[in-house]
Amino acid sequence: MEKLSPQRISELTKMLRQAKSVEDVIERGRSLSMNFSREQAREYLELIRPESEREENADCPVGSGRFMHSLIDLHMHSTASDGKDTPAALWEKIRQMGIRCFSLTDHDTIDGAREMERLVAGDGDAGVRFIRGIEFSAISPAGKCHILGYGYDWDNDVFRAALEKCAELRRRKLEQRLDFLRREYRIVFAEEDMAEMRRRKSVGKPHLGELMVKQGVVDSVAEAIDKYINRCPKLENRMPADEVIAAIRAAGGISVWAHPYGGVGERPRSGEEFRAQQSYLREKGLQGLECFYSRFTPEQIDALTASASANGLCVSGGSDYHGRKTYPEPGTLNADGVPVEAERLSILGKLGESIAPGD
Ligand SMILES: [Zn+2]
Ligand SMILES: [Zn+2]
Repeated sequence: MEKLSPQRISELTKMLRQAKSVEDVIERGRSLSMNFSREQAREYLELIRPESEREENADCPVGSGRFMHSLIDLHMHSTASDGKDTPAALWEKIRQMGIRCFSLTDHDTIDGAREMERLVAGDGDAGVRFIRGIEFSAISPAGKCHILGYGYDWDNDVFRAALEKCAELRRRKLEQRLDFLRREYRIVFAEEDMAEMRRRKSVGKPHLGELMVKQGVVDSVAEAIDKYINRCPKLENRMPADEVIAAIRAAGGISVWAHPYGGVGERPRSGEEFRAQQSYLREKGLQGLECFYSRFTPEQIDALTASASANGLCVSGGSDYHGRKTYPEPGTLNADGVPVEAERLSILGKLGESIAPGD
């Protein structure tokens, strides 16, 4: 290695100070024999550049605005439930963003996770860790909740029975809605639409609404939901939370309470509601809390991690990415858009996963 003259060092340092993106800092740093990690390069960039001068999205080609994503995200959805990206499109996005460890947690189904596992395995050299995931819609004596399951054995009988029960509850709910629309409003769907709905894993209100627009019954999906679908008597289609936790545990997985202070678009939970739900779920064998979440502030995250450690629960984190406008981008693990290191998610240790060093 050539010895650098003081003048050369000053020139190179000047060059380094002109860096506009994380990649840029790493690249320019090399010519000064400085090996910046991505984290260090980010910190350096923050020191030398006001936000307004940084290259938009230079280190995040598909992210929105100036947030900096984490390289880990354990809560995302695909078209297997109510997300907009197919597993293949999501996988492409994960690679583009440089995310190193992730999970696909579709609502009440493992179909997306199965496909994702195949995609990731087929791209063996990508060096990205995939963790099997699912998000169950559950209910407990303390109210509704979402329970995430990670690292399960999908061939386990108890787990499969729980999935089958979810599917049955969904089918009953769909048939009940179709009956109601036919009986009350004489709304009948075309044979092929009915067949398609029965084939789908989940048929939500928007899907029914779109069909009603297509049939010319209403002008908009909102009108269909407001004036017709929401008048259908409620049928409970959520799984009992204790059954869900037992099924995840039987399959060797880890159960985690999702967004304990309320998810995207949900009413925030009060302290009282949080404590009642946590205490019930824990008593039933819950193993972790989703402390890091796109919507949570640093104060909320601190309170949740303190509660996790006081209650012997592991710490997890995710964005709840849906590929839809009202939801955050992958890797958004807090409301500030500040990257979170993998070491802070103790669930990874439990899952026996780790991110390759040097990132
Ligand atoms: Zn949720
Ligand atoms: Zn979710």
